[in-house]
Amino acid sequence: MNPLFDQRRYLIPFRSGLLPQIFTGVLVIGGGVAGLRAALAAAERGAEVILLTKGPFEQTATAWAQGGVAAALEPGDTFESHVQDTLTAGAGLCDRDVVQMVVEEGAERVRELFEWGMRVDAGDDGKPTPGIEGGHSARRIYHAGGDSTGAEIQRLLTERVRAHAAIRVFEKCFALDLVTPSDEPGSPVMGAITHHPRYGLQMIWARSTILASGGAGGVYRETTNPPQATADGLAMAYRAGAEIADAAFVQFHPTALYLAGAPRLLISEAIRGEGAHLVDTSGHRFMRDVHELGELAPRDVVSQAIVRQMHKQGGRHVWLDCRHIERFAERFPGIASRLKQFELDPQRDAIPVHPAAHYTIGGVRTDADGRTSVPGLYAAGEAACTGLHGANRLASNSLLEGLVFGDRAGRKATNGNGFTSGGGGAPSSPPVPIVSDIRPSDHAELDLADVRSSLRSAMWRNAGLVRNGPRLTDLAEMLGFWAKYTLDKIFDEPMGWETQNLLLAGAIIARSAAWREESRGCHVRDDCTGTDDAFCAHDAWRRGRDEPTRTPVGEALVS
Ligand SMILES: Cc1cc2nc3c(=O)[nH]c(=O)nc-3n(C[C@H](O)[C@H](O)[C@H](O)COP(=O)(O)OP(=O)(O)OC[C@H]3O[C@@H](n4cnc5c(N)ncnc54)[C@H](O)[C@@H]3O)c2cc1C
Repeated sequence: MNPLFDQRRYLIPFRSGLLPQIFTGVLVIGGGVAGLRAALAAAERGAEVILLTKGPFEQTATAWAQGGVAAALEPGDTFESHVQDTLTAGAGLCDRDVVQMVVEEGAERVRELFEWGMRVDAGDDGKPTPGIEGGHSARRIYHAGGDSTGAEIQRLLTERVRAHAAIRVFEKCFALDLVTPSDEPGSPVMGAITHHPRYGLQMIWARSTILASGGAGGVYRETTNPPQATADGLAMAYRAGAEIADAAFVQFHPTALYLAGAPRLLISEAIRGEGAHLVDTSGHRFMRDVHELGELAPRDVVSQAIVRQMHKQGGRHVWLDCRHIERFAERFPGIASRLKQFELDPQRDAIPVHPAAHYTIGGVRTDADGRTSVPGLYAAGEAACTGLHGANRLASNSLLEGLVFGDRAGRKATNGNGFTSGGGGAPSSPPVPIVSDIRPSDHAELDLADVRSSLRSAMWRNAGLVRNGPRLTDLAEMLGFWAKYTLDKIFDEPMGWETQNLLLAGAIIARSAAWREESRGCHVRDDCTGTDDAFCAHDAWRRGRDEPTRTPVGEALVS
C-alpha cells in the first residue's frame, strides 16, 4: 500500500480549543441496529450518551434489511445447530467462542425485541413464524412485514432511543475523525471531531466512543448498500491507530436489480426459496448445470456462476424469473412496490439481476466485548470484525451480531475509565488540547464524482468477485496514484471526506486481498484456488505497519 495512505492523521486542520465543546459519557457513532442497541445499553447503566447519524435515521443498512434476524428459539432447534451452520458458512475462520456467545445471547436479544413490541410476522395463534434461508438447517429466521424486518427493528429501537432521557441524538452530524492526544497508534480515543450543516465543526469529548458506522459497500460500483456505506468508521479508526482485520472478506449477493440509473435493490434469496428461476439471455436455467441445489446454491457459487454466464454470452445481467410465483406482491410487498417504481411487475416481467457487494465482513478488530486495540474505542455491527462471520457470513446473522455486540459494547463502555455509578460519566473540561496542522495542497481542483466513480469501478473489476495477484497489484498502483492528489486535499463537506475515506478503505481491502494468497469463503482468487492452512488466521493491519498481525483462529482478537 502506498505510504501516502498512512501519512494523514486527520482529514482536516483544526485546533480543538477554538471549536465549540460538547461533553458526554459515551459517544456512539451510528444509528443502525448496533449503535441504537449500544446507546440503550450504555444509558441503562447510567451513562450520558450522544448518538450521531450522518444522514436521517432511516437511512441505514439496518432499515434496508429484508430477510430477517436469526435465532434458535423454536422447539426442535438448538444453539449447537445454529453454531454449526455459522461455522460451516465461515469456512474455517470463525472464532468458535464468539459464535457460541452470539448464538446464545442473540436468542435473548431477539426475545427481548419481541417483548419490546417488535411487530414480528406471526401465525393465527399469535406465535412468531420463523422462516428458513440458505445455509440454515432449521426454521429460525424471524421477519416482519414479509420483507421489511430491518425497517421494523430500526423503528422499534429508534423509538426507544428517542424516549430515553439520557440519550441525545444528533441527526445529520458527520463524524470526521476520532481524536487522540498523540498521533501515535495506541494513544487513547477521547471523542470525535464532527460537522453539522447548521452548527459547523464541533468537538465531542467522551470517556468512551463506540463506532457503529456500518459497512464499506460504497467502495464498489455494484452494491446493495445504502449511499451512507462509505467506510467512514473503518477509515477513521485506521487513522486513529486501530487494527483492521480480515478486510479481504466482502460478501457479494447474487441478485441485485440491474437497471441503468436505478439503485441496486436487493432481490432477496427468499424469492429463490419460493421457486424463482435464474435464466440467461437464451432463457436457459444455467444454475441446474452448476450445483445440485440449483438457484439455492450458496451465495458465492451463484454469484460466480452468474458472472461466468454473462461473460460467456456477453450480457450485462441475467434474469430472475418469478412469473410463476403466486401472490408475489402479498409475500414480498416491499420488493414488489420498489419494482413497481421502475415499471416492473414480477408477475409479468422477468427481473434483470446482477451480483453486487453486500456485506463487509472485515472491519475494526474487536474482542468479545467490542473493545478495539485502541483504549477508549469500541466497535460493533458491520463496522467491526468480531470473528463471528469468519470468511463468509451466514444469512441473517448480521442483525443478530449488531444486537449482541451493540449491547456488549454499550455495557463495557461504561466500565471503569472515570465512570461512577449513575454519574453520567461526562468529562467536565477538555482533557487535552488537540492540534491538527495540514498544509493546503497545491494540486489542482478535483472532480470528486469522477474520482469516486473511477475508484468504485476499479474495485469492482480488480477486487470484486474473482481476484488475482496481478489485478490486485494494478489496483494498488491505481489507488496510490489517485491518493497523491486526493488525500492531500482539505475538503469542507462530506462528499470530499467520504471520497478520502473510500479511497483508504479500498486500499485496505486490496492489501488484505493481495496478502491472502488462497481462496476461502467469499475471497476467491483464480491464481490461488483452494484454501491454504498457512492462511487459517485473521490478518490485522495498523497504520504505519507494512506487515499484518496474524491471529490464529480461536485466539482472542484483542489481547
Ligand atoms: C439490502 C440489504 C439487506 C440486508 N438484509 C439482511 C437481513 O435480512 N438480515 C441480516 O441479518 N442482515 C441483513 N443485511 C445486513 C445488515 O442489514 C447490516 O449488516 C446491519 O444492519 C448493519 O448495522 P449497523 O448498525 O452496523 O450499521 P448501519 O445500519 O448501516 O448503520 C450505520 C450508521 O452509521 C452512521 N454513520 C456512518 N458514517 C458516519 C459518520 N461519518 N458520521 C456519523 N454517522 C455515521 C449512519 O448514518 C448510520 O446511522 C442487509 C443489508 C442490506 C444492505
